[in-house]
Amino acid sequence: MRLGIFGGTFDPVHEGHISVAQAVCERLLLDLVLFVPAKNPQLREGKLPQATPDQRSKMLGFAIKSHAKFQISSIELNRTGPSYMFDTLKEIRKIYKSDAKDTYLIIGSDVLQRFEEWYKYKKIMNECTLVIYGRPGNNGATTTLPDFLVPYQNRIQRIVGEEYEVSATRIRELLLNGESNIEGLLPEVENFIKDENIYIESEG
Ligand code: ATP
Repeated sequence: MRLGIFGGTFDPVHEGHISVAQAVCERLLLDLVLFVPAKNPQLREGKLPQATPDQRSKMLGFAIKSHAKFQISSIELNRTGPSYMFDTLKEIRKIYKSDAKDTYLIIGSDVLQRFEEWYKYKKIMNECTLVIYGRPGNNGATTTLPDFLVPYQNRIQRIVGEEYEVSATRIRELLLNGESNIEGLLPEVENFIKDENIYIESEG
């Protein structure tokens, strides 16, 4: 089983996430991509997700429903105590019996410089291949690797493809301004957001 793991806040999921997952899935011939919503990300400067775990999962559900190879894993949402990707990877590899070499952890290039701050990042590199997808303004897909990742370069794969400007932060700002038909936001997700009145308060 060639398994992709795509963690994130998904607050909300947007077309950038889906397009990146689709491109990686096709390029690396993955059998499955698991979207793993984070409970309370450690590295977000104390900013909590605005949508509840249930709302973020539902939005993901709308976004992936027409993609046969995409699934959601609630493994982090269900965990008590702090939630780390290192633990997630080990658990998922056990469940799916996937080898480290066939387990692909997908990140956008904006995450690359701060990957060093991830809990047990060196051990993470023994559990998977790290897949880096370029994000505008964070040219990680083409620039040199940060020094701390050089020892692991044979475990790192860069996927160069179309880059997507969209971000959840920008989408939340537009929603706060009362905008509709937001570019990069799937209509079904937008309808859900409006029905549930999410993102109508400033993040402060
Ligand atoms: P926020 O703006 O709230 O920080 P985000 O748009 O970065 O959110 P996350 O859920 O934090 O979305 O991202 C999950 C993963 O998806 C991260 O690895 C991130 O780098 C990647 N990602 C998100 N948007 C893009 C994009 N447009 N291009 C490439 N990767 C992306």
